[in-house]
Amino acid sequence: MADCLFCKIIAGEIPSTKVYEDELVFAFRDIAPQAPTHILVIPKAHISGCNGVTPDNSAVVAHIFEVIPQIAAAEGLTGGYRVVSNCGDDAGQTVHHLHFHILGGKKLTLEMA
Ligand code: AMP
Ligand code: ZN
Repeated sequence: MADCLFCKIIAGEIPSTKVYEDELVFAFRDIAPQAPTHILVIPKAHISGCNGVTPDNSAVVAHIFEVIPQIAAAEGLTGGYRVVSNCGDDAGQTVHHLHFHILGGKKLTLEMA
């Protein structure tokens, strides 16, 4: 998607701090971290968000959830972590490319999103 911020990050047109990449998935540090560790995990294929997941593209979501524990382990999040995906305006979704926040590195409150 030409006007998608995260597609531009995947393409290297906008710089990011990459923590993981494979043929399907890209992960990078959030520019405005809400916790000591705050990483975004995204599919390389553009999906608008949770509502854009279909039987045709849902395999990448399973793959993302295989990758997330690997990233958490590499980041040393042995005490646990939170995975969040904001879907739509009421949830505060600001980038309309499916992404999963990994938050950790401290005791998280319920307000933490
Ligand atoms: P959401 O509000 O759930 O749509 O999450 C979007 C996230 O993208 C926010 O946590 C932003 O801080 C993060 N973000 C926006 N622009 C960038 C960027 N250029 N590099 C890294 N993270 C970004
Ligand atoms: Zn995109």
